[in-house]
Amino acid sequence: MNPAIAQSTLTEQICAAIRSVVGSGPVPLHEPRFAGNEWVYLKECLDSSYVSSVGKFVDRFEADLAAFTGAKHVVAVVNGTAALQVALGLAGVQRQDEVLIPALTFVATANAVVYCGAIPHFVDSEERTLGLDPHVLRDYLRSSTDIRGGQCINRQSGRVIRALVPMHTFGHPVDIEGVLGVARDFHLNLVEDAAESLGSTIQGRHTGTFGLMGTLSFNGNKTITTGGGGALLTGNSELARHAKHLTTTAKVPHRWEYVHDEIGYNYRLPNINAALGCAQLEQLSGLLEAKRRIFGSYQTAFARVPHVHMVEEPYGCRSNYWLQTLLLDESVEGQRDAVLTATNDQGLMTRPAWTLLHRLTAYRTCPKMALPVAESLERRLINLPSSAHLGAEQSRPS
Ligand SMILES: *Cc1c(COP(=O)(O)O)cnc(C)c1O
Repeated sequence: MNPAIAQSTLTEQICAAIRSVVGSGPVPLHEPRFAGNEWVYLKECLDSSYVSSVGKFVDRFEADLAAFTGAKHVVAVVNGTAALQVALGLAGVQRQDEVLIPALTFVATANAVVYCGAIPHFVDSEERTLGLDPHVLRDYLRSSTDIRGGQCINRQSGRVIRALVPMHTFGHPVDIEGVLGVARDFHLNLVEDAAESLGSTIQGRHTGTFGLMGTLSFNGNKTITTGGGGALLTGNSELARHAKHLTTTAKVPHRWEYVHDEIGYNYRLPNINAALGCAQLEQLSGLLEAKRRIFGSYQTAFARVPHVHMVEEPYGCRSNYWLQTLLLDESVEGQRDAVLTATNDQGLMTRPAWTLLHRLTAYRTCPKMALPVAESLERRLINLPSSAHLGAEQSRPS
């Protein structure tokens, strides 16, 4: 067979499969939709003049998130990166510590580690979940660290490896049971980066509630948005109290005195953003159903295309299907760029995986294990248009 013909055929088949799901015209990767009480609640903020750091929507958003996720405590903050930074600090991450994070994640995970003065240490992923692989991590830590005085010491750098941060990639839950075992056996504090996985559960339990703390993001491209925003989840009331204190400038409550008892941050979520969040959260279950339907449509469409498959939620888990993910077989991975070019040329916004973090200039010298699976995924992964309203619009008569 002529390889040039084969290539154009696969690319064309992929474009056609995407079109059959999303319809005609330009289609973004992920767009928010404001179809509920957003205008009502925003108007309430403006009419009451409570737009900033005080107001009832912040409390309500935290309570609604706690109810939805089952987390005992929720602290709303300005964005997901800030949530991670504060969570890591509260997990005891100090200057010159190392923190284990996947190489295949958004750059914010590593940035938050550096904001604490610590050093990211990159871990490989598994293809089944796209998340951190606890089995290879266990073998790696066994051969490269010592446990001394209840701390995990990197034999090569001499530094303490303080924490482990799994990330639920594109909404697919990580193998949390394996991760919890590694954290326990190697004395690592577990902070879950659940920025992408609002609505994703493992055996019915919400992602972000398994570790010491978990963090969410409500950036404009996430499943629900507050414009910008994030949250910290924890079952520990002392950590929750401290997180709230730290993110509100560490001000000691008083009728007029300005006393701040440590160096805090101005990381509180403004009321106007929380208002948006309350309205979005009311629509979350519908959004999750729509995204699951879109996954089903893509899976049907791609069943007929050879050498590719859709990433499906891991066994025993429910994924929020935040970003739909197509994986090319190794035999056709060389065609990834042709697929990206062809789809984007015709207005279908597709994206490759993030550049693996150990390749970014700032992180090139950080410690890492062998990363063969993350590197393979990076070569083969394509995110497809994933907005929740795609499915609905397609089925609407035009
Ligand atoms: C979006 C995201 C974040 C950061 O959230 P922001 O609200 O944009 O700061 C962190 N980690 C991952 C994996 C993300 O996808």
